[in-house]
Amino acid sequence: MLHEKLESIYDSVLRRNPGEIEFHQAAREVLESIGPVLGKHPEYAESKIIERICEPERQIIFRVPWEDDQGEVHINRGFRVEFNSALGPYKGGLRFHPSVYLGIVKFLGFEQIFKNGLTGLPIGGGKGGSDFDPKGRSQREIMRFCQSFMTELYRHIGEYTDVPAGDIGVGQREVGYLFGQYKRITNRYESAVITGKGLSYGGAQVRTEATGYGCAFFVEEMLKARGTSFDGKRVVVSGSGNVAVYAIEKVQQLGGTVVACSDSSGYVIDEKGIDLDLLKQIKQIEHLRMDAYARRRGEVSFVAGRSIWEVPCEVAMPSATQNEITGKDAEALVRGGCIAIGEGANMPTTPEGIRIFQEAGVSFGPGKAANAGGVATSALEMQQNASRDSWTFEFSERRLQEIMQDIHGRCLNTAEEYGMPGNYVAGANIDGFKRVADAMLALGLI
Ligand code: NDP
Repeated sequence: MLHEKLESIYDSVLRRNPGEIEFHQAAREVLESIGPVLGKHPEYAESKIIERICEPERQIIFRVPWEDDQGEVHINRGFRVEFNSALGPYKGGLRFHPSVYLGIVKFLGFEQIFKNGLTGLPIGGGKGGSDFDPKGRSQREIMRFCQSFMTELYRHIGEYTDVPAGDIGVGQREVGYLFGQYKRITNRYESAVITGKGLSYGGAQVRTEATGYGCAFFVEEMLKARGTSFDGKRVVVSGSGNVAVYAIEKVQQLGGTVVACSDSSGYVIDEKGIDLDLLKQIKQIEHLRMDAYARRRGEVSFVAGRSIWEVPCEVAMPSATQNEITGKDAEALVRGGCIAIGEGANMPTTPEGIRIFQEAGVSFGPGKAANAGGVATSALEMQQNASRDSWTFEFSERRLQEIMQDIHGRCLNTAEEYGMPGNYVAGANIDGFKRVADAMLALGLI
């Protein structure tokens, strides 16, 4: 339910952003949480903070022409939505996936504002990407695409302006090509202009692992708050990309057994526990599909065309894409004995799914909080670049764990303060919102 003052703001979001359904969903979720804040803080409404937050500061859409290995010309569309810079330079990843359009980039950018606020680090919110499909493209084609993309993007970004990173379809290889082209065009070795870089040219330890590891640390805190731990728990992680692989790695280190993971072709059930070395070999080195894992591992089923959430588990970590857990999936998970959800992906659970989990007493860690370890470690990468320093793996991982514990504690305390104990969604939205809103008030009407 929306607070009456927020109803008209939401109507205006719908009217001003037609057809952008993912953005509408993300905006509604935040607006539903912040009703109680307006009672305590009338100054936010008086200064139209919420209306301002819902309108990006700047939206850039551009043409990305490139040539494939056969000499054929292709045209894609590039986006960068610079949503809010009250807390620091815009910060958020780039997604390369055929489903990308303005509504997806805006939902991700909007979420990013509050997530970044929640980390307590000096970073604003933004997001970008392209409808380019990297699947089946050669390394050279991907390089040419990245170079063309940066040939426009470079004029909008900078260490003090806007600092992109990776997301779906953009990993360390793509970040390298993007950074290389930025350096070439500007003639500046401006390391902190992009994060997620390789270790040989300014990347930070633990950045690759940070989102997945951070999500596992967050779930560990949720389990602790319920008086239990990962030890001996049956866990399902969707996806098998950057976030999923390192979520699996950390869950295994913390004593859990991950019995299933997936890609867009289907999922595997491996009752002995996912063989991480094999998964990395197949996904990160050979770039094969999930059925190859089942074939090589033996005695493992590959299931196509069905939802991974039919696999019973005590902990679920959706780490693939938005709206992958529907109401029906949530019911199946609750029936199967699930007690905790840690969203590694952004907005992977539909509003109905969230309601079902919360009503069933499942600890539900929303992406804004549970996957904030990625952007937090990106901010640490910027810090190391600015001081020409590089920290050890152990130190960086400890910092990540402390940040996740702090975010978890703040979500719980804020939810309690606003009369919604145990509601991590409300805690994350309110805490992130207040940090950004206070900075916006302090900076005046800009
Ligand atoms: P990757 O591209 O590395 O991996 C994505 C994984 O999800 C792949 O296994 C992919 O399968 C699967 N997937 C993607 N789209 C779909 C789809 N429509 N249906 C089914 N499966 C799909 O991306 P990341 O791991 O980086 O990102 C995963 C999620 O985590 C995203 O929601 C992203 O926004 C979020 N996130 C990422 C962060 C990061 O640091 N990378 C930080 C915070 C959040 P396939 O290969 O078959 O497409």
